[in-house]
Amino acid sequence: MTASGAVWRNWARTESVRPLRVERPATPEAVQRAVAAAAASGLGIKPVGAGHSFTGIAVAPGVQLDLADLSGVLDADVATGRVTIAAGTRLHALPALLAPYGLALPNMGDIDRQTIAGATATGTHGTGLGFGGLATQIVAARLVTGSGELLTVSASERPELLPAVRVGLGALGVLVEMTLQLVPRYVLHAVERREPFDEVLDGWLDRLGSADHFEFYWFPHTGTALTKTNTRLPDSVSRTPLGRFSRWVDDELLANGAYRAICALGTVAPRATPSLARVVDRFTGGRDFSDFSPAVFTTNRTVRFREMEYAVPLEAVPDAVREVRALIERKGWRISFPIEVRAAAADDDWLSTAHGRDTGYIAVHRYFREDPTAYFTAVEEVLRGFGGRPHWGKLHTQSAETLAGLYPRFGDFLQVRDELDPERRFANPYLERVLGD
Ligand SMILES: Cc1cc2nc3c(=O)[nH]c(=O)nc-3n(C[C@H](O)[C@H](O)[C@H](O)COP(=O)(O)OP(=O)(O)OC[C@H]3O[C@@H](n4cnc5c(N)ncnc54)[C@H](O)[C@@H]3O)c2cc1C
Repeated sequence: MTASGAVWRNWARTESVRPLRVERPATPEAVQRAVAAAAASGLGIKPVGAGHSFTGIAVAPGVQLDLADLSGVLDADVATGRVTIAAGTRLHALPALLAPYGLALPNMGDIDRQTIAGATATGTHGTGLGFGGLATQIVAARLVTGSGELLTVSASERPELLPAVRVGLGALGVLVEMTLQLVPRYVLHAVERREPFDEVLDGWLDRLGSADHFEFYWFPHTGTALTKTNTRLPDSVSRTPLGRFSRWVDDELLANGAYRAICALGTVAPRATPSLARVVDRFTGGRDFSDFSPAVFTTNRTVRFREMEYAVPLEAVPDAVREVRALIERKGWRISFPIEVRAAAADDDWLSTAHGRDTGYIAVHRYFREDPTAYFTAVEEVLRGFGGRPHWGKLHTQSAETLAGLYPRFGDFLQVRDELDPERRFANPYLERVLGD
């Protein structure tokens, strides 16, 4: 199917493009034909996932590939926990798709709107020191390379390419399917508390070490952090899920609704932001519940925002967050969105933000109607001082030159790109900036 004309926009409204052509292939062979046709007419071609990257990583000025028809489970082995899924599958579809096999993703981020290929391509992660990002679960993948070849990468076929393909930034080819190492379905017991911010920072390493999944939000202009501690339990335990009503009150009315009001008011009366932030801080937090993992890990985000996130060495987090706090106070900025702090285990993927080191993630946000430039630029400078690496799907200003020094295998990744996409069929302005041409 081919169409053209419509303007594509990402979720955060930071990027838009009118592709020359949109194609919606339903088979790997159709993807191959689309890549060959783009090559024949000298066009670039890019798959787009759910458009949830804040950066221009998914922008497709030439041919845009919509992989919505490449979705679902293709193969499942319950004994090993390995499941092959089509690349366009949305994360929110997985609980139902995996229910017959009693399997689940070992960890998830804050939302489930993304496609599995888009999420893994940018190094999407959740929190928990015993867990890597989503891409670390990939044990095999099939992708269409720049020449239109369908390439399998697995433990037995071109295994040396796996650490490049797992977090591939969409630069190496069009993934059509991937095999994930999953775990038996499990329940999470969630405890959310408001706690003194400095105590949380002082206890950062201990808290992470003693919890399966620990994270916190700090609301600038307040002295409290909202901590979230999730404990893994077998799926046989009786659950105490949030009722539909209390979930709506907490997530929609208080969290999203109050933010929307604060953010909207903050744009017309910025001076009100600190006191309003204290109000939200007072209303959120303080709950206990348990449910199947996807319902606990993920929430709805209905207030549009812009985000920057940096990965720093795990132990640097308290100092780095304190410097960000000092910066906000010094500058007198009114910041309506909380700062989110998470962690992940070191991994071997060449462009993973957690490559080679246990990692802490510090994310800053700004309402989408506010200009984030001054805040993000100054926080970026602070976090780069701690050896920070930017999330590939979130706003940052780094380029290939600076990024090369942050990733020991950067040059190896570029070599794989030269092999799989020598003509730069999958390039776009963002990839030219972060990988070079
Ligand atoms: C509200 C919100 C919450 C978020 N929460 C988190 C979080 O908790 N943790 C976190 O780490 N990130 C988070 N993110 C970032 C998000 O997970 C990433 O930006 C992710 O890449 C988005 O997935 P997508 O399907 O929308 O991909 P897109 O943004 O559409 O695409 C991302 C990249 O993947 C490539 N791609 C897509 N499909 C394929 C394919 N089949 N083959 C090859 N390449 C492909 C695209 O070309 C592009 O390069 C969040 C973003 C938003 C907007």
